[in-house]
Amino acid sequence: MQAGIHPNYHEVKVMCACSASWTTRSTVKGDELRVEICSNCHPFFTGKQKLVDTEGRVDRFQKKAAKSKALQAAIASRKGTEATQ
Ligand SMILES: [Zn+2]
Repeated sequence: MQAGIHPNYHEVKVMCACSASWTTRSTVKGDELRVEICSNCHPFFTGKQKLVDTEGRVDRFQKKAAKSKALQAAIASRKGTEATQ
């Protein structure tokens, strides 16, 4: 093995947002690895349907969609009143 070219491959503790944890080996800096989804909580493995909401993106999108729908309704109603005048 040539010296000075290999990353530090060591044992790390993986911790998921669902509170599951296990150890593995990795070249990550430090000795712990934090993940937001794992095979214990991902819908593919649990078989349950749920939205995987990382950093509130789903919530943000739904808010945006509701806003756009309201705006479209407002425009449609305005067009409706203009047509009758
Ligand atoms: Zn998990």
